[in-house]
Amino acid sequence: MSDSDHDRDNDGGPEAYYNDTHRAFLQAFLSRGSMTFREAQPILAAIFTIDEKQEEGDKAKGTEPADVTQEDFESYVSALSTMTSPLDIEIRSITHQVSKERIYALVNTTSDPVTQLATLHNAEEIAFIRRVIDAMFDKYNTPRMEVMCLDGMQANKLRSAPRNEDEDVPPQEEDGNGAATQTIGGLKGLRSSEVENVMHSMVEEGWFERSREGFYSLTARALLELRQWLVDGYNDPDLNPNEWQRIKFCEACREIVTVGQRCAERDCCVRLHDGCGDGFWRSRKERKCPRCSRDWDGKHFVGERAVTETEAYMRGRRRSGKGRSSRGDVGRSSLAGQAIEYGEEEEEV
Ligand SMILES: [Zn+2]
Ligand SMILES: [Zn+2]
Repeated sequence: MSDSDHDRDNDGGPEAYYNDTHRAFLQAFLSRGSMTFREAQPILAAIFTIDEKQEEGDKAKGTEPADVTQEDFESYVSALSTMTSPLDIEIRSITHQVSKERIYALVNTTSDPVTQLATLHNAEEIAFIRRVIDAMFDKYNTPRMEVMCLDGMQANKLRSAPRNEDEDVPPQEEDGNGAATQTIGGLKGLRSSEVENVMHSMVEEGWFERSREGFYSLTARALLELRQWLVDGYNDPDLNPNEWQRIKFCEACREIVTVGQRCAERDCCVRLHDGCGDGFWRSRKERKCPRCSRDWDGKHFVGERAVTETEAYMRGRRRSGKGRSSRGDVGRSSLAGQAIEYGEEEEEV
């Protein structure tokens, strides 16, 4: 897209403070979906430079990305928020759990993720994506192992709806609006090659990110958009605050934790992002869980390390002599799957 094809129509109306530079920035924001300050700097610099050239002609010096300040950025973000809020679109921000960079995203405040995905994906793909998100927050998120992500092989196993779901729900038996059962009845599932494509496009669209170990998890932007939907869908509002819930928040920053550290006490809900720990412990005399007082060893993990730090996973890795898995891991034997199953067997003995 071009930043320069907007016309200059400042008419001094109520939008006077909102000019072409804001419109150009909104365009850039819309095309990307999310942005960090670092990513915004060259974009705003280009917009400012065009604006200066139009005002001052060739003698304009132009703006360098490094000259764009955090204040410039925040003032544009806040102007955009004011303009988009009547459209039920807000700019919200969240800190990336690993990089600690602040990410700003346009969030549609009324529609759910399924509605948003519907513009780019068909019903089969959406049903598959729902199963993947379910696996992240239900199947692979238990008090014993809060993995909250899955690898390509595990995603591939979700390519069709579970059999019993088809058998247990006759197509005629519908609930109030009939939507859920009808949809399940009519869907066949995806082929392995399609699974790989959908996972790849979910990364491209900014919903999933893929780690170097090959695990897919929700991006910071997805957590921003889906925060309430995840809490409503996976947490039980009737449990008391000390009971284990699927979606938990960082004790320090209060944002969702899908990657971080957990209390060593299995049923305790205290979680911390890795990067939030330093500030959190600095103000405390000892490293003990603030709720259950158990020693905080920093070796109990949420996220892919819940799998990759297990003995079973590391042993499997050594045995297969396998380095980092590549994108084409869909369909190959999954170390993560084995490690999780091994952990379960170990548990039952
Ligand atoms: Zn945090
Ligand atoms: Zn605890």
